[in-house]
Amino acid sequence: MNNYAQRIYEGLQQELPWQTEFLQSVFEVFDSLDPLLDSNDKYEHFRILERITVPERIIIFQVPWVDDKGDILVNRGYRVQFNSAIGPYKGGLRFHPSVNLSILKFLGFEQVFKNSLTTLPMGGGKGGSNFDPKGKSDIEIMRFCQSFMRELQSHIGPDTDVPAGDIGVGGREIGYLFGMYKKIVNAHQSVLTGKSLNFGGSLIRPEATGYGNVYFALEMLKTRREDFDNRKVMISGSGNVAQFTAQKIINEGGKVITMSDSSGSILCKEGLTHEQLEFIMDLKNVKRGRISEVSEKFSGIEFCAGQKPWQLTEADAALPSATQNELELEDVKALVKGGCVCVSEGANMPTTPEAVEYLLANNVLFGPGKAANAGGVATSGLEMSQNAMRVGWEAAEVDRKLHDIMRSIHSVSKDAADEFGAKDNYVLGANIAGFRKVADAMIDLGV
Ligand code: NDP
Repeated sequence: MNNYAQRIYEGLQQELPWQTEFLQSVFEVFDSLDPLLDSNDKYEHFRILERITVPERIIIFQVPWVDDKGDILVNRGYRVQFNSAIGPYKGGLRFHPSVNLSILKFLGFEQVFKNSLTTLPMGGGKGGSNFDPKGKSDIEIMRFCQSFMRELQSHIGPDTDVPAGDIGVGGREIGYLFGMYKKIVNAHQSVLTGKSLNFGGSLIRPEATGYGNVYFALEMLKTRREDFDNRKVMISGSGNVAQFTAQKIINEGGKVITMSDSSGSILCKEGLTHEQLEFIMDLKNVKRGRISEVSEKFSGIEFCAGQKPWQLTEADAALPSATQNELELEDVKALVKGGCVCVSEGANMPTTPEAVEYLLANNVLFGPGKAANAGGVATSGLEMSQNAMRVGWEAAEVDRKLHDIMRSIHSVSKDAADEFGAKDNYVLGANIAGFRKVADAMIDLGV
């Protein structure tokens, strides 16, 4: 690693040893910046690495709420406003018991560069709570969201910070959060994205992250004259990103042979049909059930309790779409052995550093999350534009814009990799392209 980057990274390690996910995400970016930092001392002169690794602001607050039994519970709420050099803070809210400052700082740091790659004017942020939505009634979810927004509302705004969904925060939660915000400020402002179509949402926003990842993967495959037709594809997760990744893969003629949740994976060697996928969407989005129920309903689908998809069988491609660090070295060794040619990250940082290194060393096309899953936030940016103009674009128009953005992210990442002699290294290309724009804006804006 470049001396300057190494020094700053070691300082962070000493200061924040427990923030392992955050340190991992910083290492991944810094490790790619060598050629840029080596050939340009302005970033050190302007202390960009010191400034870009410290959030501009972190808000931590209590979220008290009352459950259905009348008991009072207290969760922790967070918003990490990481960097606003190129636009208002933008990034999702995650509700999951594992949420802590390290995870939100890693997600916020990633978001800064991802948003930069979309070419839209959005800074980076992330937030959420250690609240666990699993097993809660709709009314409990509503009470929690209302309490969360009661505090968050004073820190966000359409030109300040525009949150969206992430793990555990989907259309239902965004509705309750937006309803509370609207009551408090007495204005119908574009302060959240991922809204329902009934009150300002954009067509294709629910589909955008999954579709975008498939568009990105197709661009990578095109460079080797490949596509998804008749190819076996492993997907992890069964939430928003996984569902629409699966839908697009099936539309492209591919076979989705796995999906999963935190209880295990389903294996369908023939490939899921549209009917089976619709069952999964209803099961997850409406009934809020477990993935094992799919194998109880359909023959030819096996449930593998407690297992991730990657070592269950062979596949041509893998699209991890659940959570961070879910694709480890032993998993990618099995994938490569089974003939996998493409891994593209729907989730944020799902592949461990050793696994990424192994994939690159074995000539597997690897799409890093900050490029491959940027379609979600890009379409959130399109939702903000529609809200500002008070119009609603047709689905085909939003999808076309999404597709164009994903092609452009692919080409700027590829071009940056080529510029620095790292052909096919989308990790290096995406990190350099994303970083350069934000860093140059920070220099333009003064200290
Ligand atoms: P959802 O909450 O809709 O779905 C998450 C899925 O991942 C569920 O199937 C969940 O299973 C599974 N999962 C979550 N945590 C774990 C875990 N620790 N181990 C195993 N499985 C787990 O979230 P999304 O689909 O929105 O997000 C998935 C990933 O995509 C995240 O990394 C997110 O940051 C990223 N992402 C999302 C975007 C979006 O637009 N939504 C945009 C860009 C990235 P279970 O239900 O059992 O917990």
